[in-house]
Amino acid sequence: MTALDERAAAAVRDRIAATAAAVDRERSFPAASLAALGEQGLLGLTVPAEHGGAGGGLSALAEAGETVGGACASTGMTFLMHAVTAATVAGGGGPRAAALLRELADGERIGTLAFSERGTGAHFHAPELRVERDGDGRLRISGRKSFVTSGGHAGLYLVLVQSDDGGGLDCYAVDGGADGIAFEGSWEGIGMAGNSSVAMVLDGVAVSEEDRIGVHGAGGALVFDVVAPFFLVGLAAVNVGIAAAAQAAATEHAKRRSYADGSTLAEVQSIQHALADIDLTVRQARLLVRDAAALGDAGDPGALVAIMAAKVAATEAARDVTQQALEICGGQGCTPALPIERHLRDARAGAVMAPTNGVLRSWIGKALAGLPVP
Ligand SMILES: Cc1cc2nc3c(=O)[nH]c(=O)nc-3n(C[C@H](O)[C@H](O)[C@H](O)COP(=O)(O)OP(=O)(O)OC[C@H]3O[C@@H](n4cnc5c(N)ncnc54)[C@H](O)[C@@H]3O)c2cc1C
Repeated sequence: MTALDERAAAAVRDRIAATAAAVDRERSFPAASLAALGEQGLLGLTVPAEHGGAGGGLSALAEAGETVGGACASTGMTFLMHAVTAATVAGGGGPRAAALLRELADGERIGTLAFSERGTGAHFHAPELRVERDGDGRLRISGRKSFVTSGGHAGLYLVLVQSDDGGGLDCYAVDGGADGIAFEGSWEGIGMAGNSSVAMVLDGVAVSEEDRIGVHGAGGALVFDVVAPFFLVGLAAVNVGIAAAAQAAATEHAKRRSYADGSTLAEVQSIQHALADIDLTVRQARLLVRDAAALGDAGDPGALVAIMAAKVAATEAARDVTQQALEICGGQGCTPALPIERHLRDARAGAVMAPTNGVLRSWIGKALAGLPVP
């Protein structure tokens, strides 16, 4: 599957978009929207066909991420983390991979990544948490992960830790119901109000070699070879969707808003210029994301730089376009009477999600100069 078929697109439009304002207002986890995606087979988008999925790559995620993110950013974020989780399990492999992939494709489990930590912040690829052997020789993880999207709702958490023998990083599949797991707080952040990005506390959580995703000590390669391209393309696509949704709402408002003399907002030349600028920005971002995804799918050596640049461009496009859309709509744009203020809040987090745009600019510069990344 490389694209949303008609039925899936209709499900997104009719069910997900219809609940987006309520998800935002009530800050509720978008379980029904994820179920709607599951009914259309989209929870298996990045699961290989032999494990019951659609076998989609970066281009498929770019297309679906834009559609879902434009309909509801909270659903876009949770869907994105699920799709990245599935791609990571498929790319890394391991004794549990086949069973986990089938459950992710069926929507029996929602997947997510527990990588970030307070101590390492934007440098999510260098965790401080370590898996350690207890007195009985069992592997256990203790500590705190931060900003875990779908926290408390997901059934599978990929936890990135330092290896027990100090030989690199390991990624473990931890079940949502595992003993020793707790989730703290609720997502109070600006935008993506239903994404449930919360702290995950692990208290001696037992894992085994069977739970490992990927080769022992090779978690770092998994992060850069699989997690990064899928996450960056997916997040960029969700942000293109947010920008396009703000564009559609502002254009519609400009056409409908009329004054006492019968003229419309769309007839004001500065508004026309603003609409043109928005269109240009959205088109540029979409093309960059789709081009980067195609390069990644083709295994092009220039794909990494293109993918990093696409994330920077798309998240900054969403941030700028939603502000311009708000200004087009004036005071009404600042109220929930129009969806613009929601889109504006939803577009705030993209630039600071790791790898943050600041970090990516360094990495792009290093890659262009032939220096090792990171
Ligand atoms: C809505 C949301 C959902 C998220 N979901 C997940 C998830 O599911 N799983 C997960 O693991 N994490 C998730 N995260 C975490 C996210 O990816 C980042 O790890 C986190 O936002 C880092 O925040 P911080 O405040 O610790 O950043 P800090 O490390 O304090 O960085 C602050 C600023 O300094 C800049 N900076 C720091 N160091 C450098 C440097 N060396 N070069 C250039 N600039 C630098 C950064 O770019 C950033 O702008 C999520 C975050 C958000 C907001």
